[in-house]
Amino acid sequence: MAFAATVLTLYPEMFPGPLGQSLAGRALREDRWRLDAVQIRDFAPDRHRSVDDTPAGGGAGMVLRADVVAAALDSVTHTRPILAMTPRGAPLTQTRVRTLASGPGAIILCGRFEGFDERLFEARAIEPVSIGDYVLSGGEMGALVLLDACVRLLPGVMGATESGVDESFETGLLEYPHYTRPFSWEGRTIPEVLRSGDHARIAAWRKSMAETDTRLRRPDLWERHEGARVGSPSGARHETDE
Ligand code: SAH
Repeated sequence: MAFAATVLTLYPEMFPGPLGQSLAGRALREDRWRLDAVQIRDFAPDRHRSVDDTPAGGGAGMVLRADVVAAALDSVTHTRPILAMTPRGAPLTQTRVRTLASGPGAIILCGRFEGFDERLFEARAIEPVSIGDYVLSGGEMGALVLLDACVRLLPGVMGATESGVDESFETGLLEYPHYTRPFSWEGRTIPEVLRSGDHARIAAWRKSMAETDTRLRRPDLWERHEGARVGSPSGARHETDE
């Protein structure tokens, strides 16, 4: 069965959006994955179709009602992980993306306004997911990000099957930098080693660049990488997190 995504949202017309283009779009048309967008508002009980109310305890904005969102969620019958987009969730990682991509799919709740009534998370098995330490106006972009990351890993979606193995985060490091023709551009040339044809030297250069760039740009990743390496004498491949 293909990877199936169901997105619960107040803006179903935002889907597939950018995921209708390029590799993800072609894969969608080829049924390598499925996407449904459910309008949360269709589950509002009153004739005004209201989905939100003022925050208990006061304060700015509106909160998505637990009863309405739960009714929308309960209308989706499949057994797939349920994720909710929220800056209060665990930051999304390549490890989590890989696990999701190798599973049956996901049901994704998109928040708006101040977010969801917290009781929703207690009443249903929902995994709160954040796409980073910044605040979006809604969960839809987060859902698109998460799905894009998953879909590119599905069998047959990316051209070269080995693409992805070397990539940033897969080894706990950032990927090494890339270059292509023209050889000389604005007086800058491609590193000589990459034109040497010496595969061992190229591999060593790439490894060292990946390490240097990770150390300089992402000390957090580097520290974890070094910690894991010390912990495993074989220097075995390890995950970036979890
Ligand atoms: N009041 C909330 C922010 C609400 S933003 C808080 O401060 O935590 C409105 C909606 O946008 C959220 O319900 C969520 O679905 C989405 N959103 C905002 N930032 C996000 C992030 N970093 N990751 C995932 N979803 C996010």
